[in-house]
Amino acid sequence: MNRMLKDIGLKATPQRMAILDFLKDNTSHPSAEEIYEAVAKRFPSISVATVYNTLAALKDKGSLLELTIDPAKKRYDPDTRPHHHLICLGCKRVSDIVYDFVLDLPGQVAGGYQITGNHVEFYGICPACGQNKDQKKTGQEG
Ligand SMILES: [Zn+2]
Ligand SMILES: [Zn+2]
Repeated sequence: MNRMLKDIGLKATPQRMAILDFLKDNTSHPSAEEIYEAVAKRFPSISVATVYNTLAALKDKGSLLELTIDPAKKRYDPDTRPHHHLICLGCKRVSDIVYDFVLDLPGQVAGGYQITGNHVEFYGICPACGQNKDQKKTGQEG
């Protein structure tokens, strides 16, 4: 962890360590605000700027993915292996989709590019939100 911060050219402060700690194995795709709130519980003195510049440095180094699947806010993903995402339009939960699609761009569509990757964003309603909706539909019983 210490070395990771050094690698990205940042001083390993306890606050930054706490950011890395929070992100490690985190599959909830948190926003910068959520990361700030979580770390501020342990380090109330941490500034939003520290969170943003640490995230930016991690992103620049390829150690963090910035996702735009949620139009309301950027979401961050420490899992930089190629994978896709699925967002619930109800609760905005972002799930990982680890599935190898056969996505092929014919040469004339790719315009001469050598394609090195892809990222598919899926939208839907999660089971919990789907159930809530059904309950609302059936009215006041329960
Ligand atoms: Zn949901
Ligand atoms: Zn992900």
